[in-house]
Amino acid sequence: MSDCCTLGGKNNESYDLAVIGAGSAGFSAAITAAVQSARVALIGHGMIGGTCVNIGCVPSKTMIRAAEALHGAKVAGRFPGLTGEARITDWHALVQAKDDLVGALRQKKYVDLLPSYNGIAYLEGAARLEDGGVTVNGDAIRAGKIIITTGARPSVAPIPGIDKVDYLTSTSALDLEELPRSLIIVGGGFIGCELGQMLARAGTQVTIVCRSRLLPQVEPEVSDALMNVFREEGVAVNCGVAYEFCRQDEEGVTLCVKEGGVLTELKAARVLVATGRAPNVEGLGLEAAGIRQAVGGGIAVDDRMRTTKRGTYAAGDVTGRDEFVYMAAYGAKIAALNALNGDSLVYDNSVMPAVVFTDPQVASVGLTEAQAKAQGFETKTSLVPLNQVPRALAARDTRGLIKLVADAKTDRLLGGQILAPEGADSIQTLALAIKHGMTTKALGDTIFPYLTTVEGLKLAAQTFEKDIAKLSCCAG
Ligand SMILES: Cc1cc2nc3c(=O)[nH]c(=O)nc-3n(C[C@H](O)[C@H](O)[C@H](O)COP(=O)(O)OP(=O)(O)OC[C@H]3O[C@@H](n4cnc5c(N)ncnc54)[C@H](O)[C@@H]3O)c2cc1C
Repeated sequence: MSDCCTLGGKNNESYDLAVIGAGSAGFSAAITAAVQSARVALIGHGMIGGTCVNIGCVPSKTMIRAAEALHGAKVAGRFPGLTGEARITDWHALVQAKDDLVGALRQKKYVDLLPSYNGIAYLEGAARLEDGGVTVNGDAIRAGKIIITTGARPSVAPIPGIDKVDYLTSTSALDLEELPRSLIIVGGGFIGCELGQMLARAGTQVTIVCRSRLLPQVEPEVSDALMNVFREEGVAVNCGVAYEFCRQDEEGVTLCVKEGGVLTELKAARVLVATGRAPNVEGLGLEAAGIRQAVGGGIAVDDRMRTTKRGTYAAGDVTGRDEFVYMAAYGAKIAALNALNGDSLVYDNSVMPAVVFTDPQVASVGLTEAQAKAQGFETKTSLVPLNQVPRALAARDTRGLIKLVADAKTDRLLGGQILAPEGADSIQTLALAIKHGMTTKALGDTIFPYLTTVEGLKLAAQTFEKDIAKLSCCAG
């Protein structure tokens, strides 16, 4: 490891900690350090608050909720005696309301917080690591320790011709002036799935294409069921394709894909590229500083959030792992405490819940069956379709399933996934069960409230031992 971090320069201020990047990870690191009475330079470039509040979680989730309201009215007829109808009367008003929410949360959760912490100095500008320190707008900043939290941006798959196409990314798709008539989404990850369903429900004819399958990190049963939900809603899904080329003309966009040796030309008004995220590392001077990047370009960190340069840490999306806002904040907190107090804390993502905000939602925690097997566990699994869950029957919406994975030798829960309309709010129960080493037997014996989606976890746990179809309501 090379050494960090004392630098003299024009700016004579000196800080205990310099945090580069004022998104969720940056704020978490800066506030954690300030609470420890450290003097912190928080250096922001671009919109304060970063991805989550401005162009990620907040705008996407409010638009998804709006599309759900639209869809909910349209499918009200699943209850005999009801008809429903909803339509978009003013797309601009919807987009404006999203922007207002973003602006209000950015102000309240980021800008307005800064004066509450005397120890934090907010500096505006692109920071660069130089000669063992940081420079901002050419001014040198002295700091005992540094945390890099510069986030990531949409990365575009190298499809021949894509550079000549006016493609959308997640950022521009959330800011559309008008809805495209039709849209090809390249990529079946969480962004492609969430935005694809939202825009389809808003009225765009959507085709999702992906190289493997939808949400490749989730259980195959969940991926397949989600694909069926999408297809039933009219979203076309083409999985297992190779991207050949893309071109644009007056009529729109053509994407040529190869599927099982057969070339197919897909056409749409617009194309949205959702093929992952690239870490924001350009201009930081990583190489000169001796900071190693991992495969994929993210800054390599060890389990204490240390980079390969002594005294310099990294957290959040710039590390290229666990790209969720709560993990960015968690990792940054560990980094700040380690930077100030001697590297004793370890980053632990073994019980990390994750949610994809499709409808039904995809919520997961712990190991998939394949991961558990790869780690040498002898596994047992249970699978409960939502038509076995009273909540889903009452809602007349049985799209989904619950899958649990356990250690066959000890009965200990290892992981699980919920595909259900309220899966996001149910997964934390399973996270706690796994965190505290519960067995499937103990989970099945736990009292759950009747008719809830989370009760499905109890049923899935009981499925290891008995046929839940033969149980009376709440009995067992
Ligand atoms: C469409 C979308 C939806 C999402 N939905 C969810 C969700 O529902 N739930 C969830 O948990 N996560 C979600 N995420 C992921 C989440 O937004 C990110 O994991 C999180 O915001 C990452 O935070 P960060 O602080 O690491 O990076 P960022 O928030 O991106 O912050 C990095 C900041 O550093 C700045 N910067 C870059 N270079 C420099 C430099 N040289 N000097 C100074 N500043 C610099 C950047 O401009 C930026 O402001 C979503 C992401 C997207 C794109």
